[in-house]
Amino acid sequence: HGLTKHFTANRGFLQRAAAPVRAVDDVSLTVRRGETLALVGESGSGKSTLGRLLLNLLEPTAGDVIYEGRNLGNLSAQELRKVRQDLQIIFQDPFASLNPRMNVQRIVGEPIWLHDAAARSEREDRVAELLRTVGLAPEHAERYPHEFSGGQRQRIGIARALASRPKLLLGDEPVSALDVSVQAQVVNLLEDLKQQFGLTLVIVAHGLAVIRHMSDRVAVMYLGEIVELAPVDALFEQPLHPYTQALIDSVPVSHPKDRRERQVLGGDMPSPSAPPPGCRFHTRCPHARPLCRENQPVFERLPDDRQVACHFWREIASAGSGSPIVVT
Ligand code: SF4
Ligand code: MG
Repeated sequence: HGLTKHFTANRGFLQRAAAPVRAVDDVSLTVRRGETLALVGESGSGKSTLGRLLLNLLEPTAGDVIYEGRNLGNLSAQELRKVRQDLQIIFQDPFASLNPRMNVQRIVGEPIWLHDAAARSEREDRVAELLRTVGLAPEHAERYPHEFSGGQRQRIGIARALASRPKLLLGDEPVSALDVSVQAQVVNLLEDLKQQFGLTLVIVAHGLAVIRHMSDRVAVMYLGEIVELAPVDALFEQPLHPYTQALIDSVPVSHPKDRRERQVLGGDMPSPSAPPPGCRFHTRCPHARPLCRENQPVFERLPDDRQVACHFWREIASAGSGSPIVVT
């Protein structure tokens, strides 16, 4: 699609055990080249699943993923291997995702070796270069994952993801397993790499705090659907969907005296295998009315590059934020 990466994943019903879990349900989303797009939601919202569908790590039950104008479902195995090099993932837990019996040379060099018939010495040079790129030393190549800190292991995972010269990196909660002091370093590294290599980033996160300063757009997910999609500043300044408002109110306030009275968002998230009818958020929404239980709101396209799925977003927005609600 020229300057656009167009991904659409419609009706991805994942078969799990007996009941189908509608982890991602009829979602349409375009990832734009060069942007940082955040997928945000509680656990069970389908954000990781959507990310994996986009990368073709999972096959959609229905719907299509279009990458650079090509439907990934129609590609040959060989073409798909090439596309997979373009689309790489960084996992949440850097320790679990690295083979403990492989040294860093093998971990980082394996994708090069798989995709490239480069000579051994060239591969070693390339691994050394990748390690420097992510802020590690070439000498680290001989060591094993257990010899590194969590932040360093995440850097190794990033170096491995970069080895096949990807165009898009998906970070599945890339910093949530790390100490708070290390999180900012890894976020800064990802932003530097994005600039340096012209990457597109998709960041999966369960809260808004981490992604606020690194995203261009945010897609808020609830029970397998995107309920709001907006440029990051607009989303924080004027969240339109009640669920987005709740997520923003759950971000810790830095100045305690500004703290508004908070209302706890009632109830747990319903099971994705039996989502509520109508608006899926109605069981927890403080603004819910009878219509919300019956009719599913459309994902309405608004000016200013925003989309929202709520019957009453106009009234809610014009009435001000009302009583703030908090997701616990
Ligand atoms: Fe709340 Fe109704 Fe809007 Fe759903 S459609 S978010 S229940 S007001
Ligand atoms: Mg997850």
